[in-house]
Amino acid sequence: MDGQKKKKRCLYCGKKIGSRMKFCSAACMEKYEEAEKKDQPKIKYFVAGILFGFLITLKNQNSREGYYG
Ligand SMILES: [Zn+2]
Repeated sequence: MDGQKKKKRCLYCGKKIGSRMKFCSAACMEKYEEAEKKDQPKIKYFVAGILFGFLITLKNQNSREGYYG
């Protein structure tokens, strides 16, 4: 029971993820985006925000690795 609520889960497949990201992979993010788009057209703005945050997260990770490399 301990810690399970703190663990985030992929919004698409439910796989546990330890990062701040909402999805375990870009593939899940895209599938989730497509599914949501069919249901709610307005969601694309929300997804765009997620995508933007996701890209920034990746960029930060890359630059951090480069910083130490
Ligand atoms: Zn997933």
